[in-house]
Amino acid sequence: MLFPTHLVAGAVLGAYTRLSVAWLVVGAALPDLLDKPLATLGVTTLYHTVGHSALFGVVVLAAAFVDRAAVAVAVGWVSHVLLDAAHVVVNGRPLDALFLLWPVAVPPAPLALAPIPFVQQYLWSPSFLLEVGIWLGAGVVLVRRRRAYRSRPESGR
Ligand SMILES: [Zn+2]
Repeated sequence: MLFPTHLVAGAVLGAYTRLSVAWLVVGAALPDLLDKPLATLGVTTLYHTVGHSALFGVVVLAAAFVDRAAVAVAVGWVSHVLLDAAHVVVNGRPLDALFLLWPVAVPPAPLALAPIPFVQQYLWSPSFLLEVGIWLGAGVVLVRRRRAYRSRPESGR
């Protein structure tokens, strides 16, 4: 999925939980903030490695026992990797979801595209259309939350 979609998904989770939206968004950004630079700098050969791995997830989920901010980061992180896994499955590349098991297993023939070429091949794919749906759903959530906020008796309206 595109990076902004992960941020929006984290924010939407904040509308349905009592977790910090800011920390949810940090967690939703974390996998790409770790892995995109590593691949861009040539440290890794794939764009889904450390930050997208279930092994890293063990660390993130263990940290969730520390405090509520860490719980929000963990929930945001889980949303990111689940959306990325859904993205490759929806686009007909289910074996690419093996990124979840990195470094134990790796996708046999990943796209391994840099961010700009990735976006170019991604536009109008089935997963891209799914993302458009996520953005529309997020818009509905925002409008409903705003209306609910404005209709509260203490809001002065
Ligand atoms: Zn990602």
